[in-house]
Amino acid sequence: MTIGGKSVAGAGGFGVVNPATGQVFAEAPDCSREQLDQAMAAAKAAGVSWRKDEDARRGAIKQAADALLTHTEDLAEVLSAEQGKPLKAAAYEITETARWLAATADLELPRTVLQDDASAYAEVVHRPLGVVAAITPWNFPLLLAGWKLGPALLAGNTVVIKPSPFTPLSTLRLGEIVASVLPPGVVNAVSGGDDLGAWMTSHPAVRKISFTGSVPTGKAVAAAAAPDLKRYTLELGGNDAAIVLDDADVATVERGLFWGAFINNGQICAGIKRIYVPERLHDELVEALAARARSVRVGAGTEKGVQLGPIQNLPQFERVRGLVADALDNGAVAAAGGKPFDRDGYFFEPTILTGVAEGTRIVDEEQFGPALPVIPYRDLDDAVERANNTDYGLSGSVWSPDLDRAAEVAARFDSGTAFVNDHLALQPYLPFGGSKWSGVGVENGPWGLAEFTELQVIYRNRK
Ligand code: NAD
Repeated sequence: MTIGGKSVAGAGGFGVVNPATGQVFAEAPDCSREQLDQAMAAAKAAGVSWRKDEDARRGAIKQAADALLTHTEDLAEVLSAEQGKPLKAAAYEITETARWLAATADLELPRTVLQDDASAYAEVVHRPLGVVAAITPWNFPLLLAGWKLGPALLAGNTVVIKPSPFTPLSTLRLGEIVASVLPPGVVNAVSGGDDLGAWMTSHPAVRKISFTGSVPTGKAVAAAAAPDLKRYTLELGGNDAAIVLDDADVATVERGLFWGAFINNGQICAGIKRIYVPERLHDELVEALAARARSVRVGAGTEKGVQLGPIQNLPQFERVRGLVADALDNGAVAAAGGKPFDRDGYFFEPTILTGVAEGTRIVDEEQFGPALPVIPYRDLDDAVERANNTDYGLSGSVWSPDLDRAAEVAARFDSGTAFVNDHLALQPYLPFGGSKWSGVGVENGPWGLAEFTELQVIYRNRK
């Protein structure tokens, strides 16, 4: 762990499992309450000078991005071993994290003059909040850490970051690398179980919680923030729909639809979780998706040419297996996949399901894994209503050669992002957030940066 600029051993340790084998391959430090207090105290103390010089902060964040790039290879090995993703995807996550940090360093939140006349001069400025508790999930440990660190630091805050207990090692290493180019205490990285997250969200030093994870935990975080009125941003789950329009060409759209759902083995908050397709195109699309699912190379992240790894952890593997079994028990047909691979580790066949609709768990709930239901529709208004009939609202996509018509339909999604002929086209300059239970607030762009600040009006009486 990194606390106050120093490498620190844990008060104990816990095992980290390689999901490609199902075996513990390393131990991660377990942060005690006293060590968390030290990390919080270090962050608070470091904030006093860190908040003073914006140009220095921009330079330091760019330096952190560069430092990260010099560790792409070794960090990718750690990430792939604990998360399961192919080495190439792990290396991509690291270069994306660096790209995000560098792009964030150039964001601006200018002062705005609100009044400038004989009676008064009034301006509004953005001030840092103080110590940020950053809590991340196991699907993109580094990228999601970068989404929090860049804007939190640029705004003048200091950070204590905690990864998921399923994927602690890469974030601890990221913490070391980033902290090595920053003043001591500006970034502290700790690891432990879910309890550690709860200690952080109720810690008196914390003024802002930046959380990415599941809906139930997000609600617990909001409740924990309430007694102290801590600010929070919540990026939670999704059940994104893709709607294919009746003029779509299946051969043109099937690849984007497939990878919009299966990238990172479907373990992505804003991935496609259900497809609505006109009855006329249903069979053709199912066959195209199934052919692609059957052709994908699944294996350990270290195997050459592998496109998808295992499911990241045993509870998630059991959940996906249970959701697919439930669908099959209720009349669904697996056009491809449908069961685990016969090998060690948490490998599940890329699965395309038909004969399934609302009322079945895999359609109504977030599966967060390599299984995709394809649902036929007759009437477009009905499809839009069904797409929106969920507590989630992260994103949605519409697929058609008629971009204007598709954009009109996409605008009807109750969601933070509406894509046309794409899904998951996330960028550092696009605000990302969810409607309804998918989240509170946004990350990225000046809007995400603003969430790490509070406004102050400075009013000068000239009379
Ligand atoms: P999770 O909610 O179980 O855990 C997320 C993090 O919260 C972990 O670090 C965990 O240790 C911590 N935590 C657990 N209990 C806590 C508590 N009481 N207080 C504070 N922290 C606590 O989620 P997960 O299973 O790791 O991740 C999968 C979920 O994350 C999915 O629902 C997915 O959609 C969501 N997700 C959302 C986004 C987004 O940007 N919207 C991105 C990635 C993942």
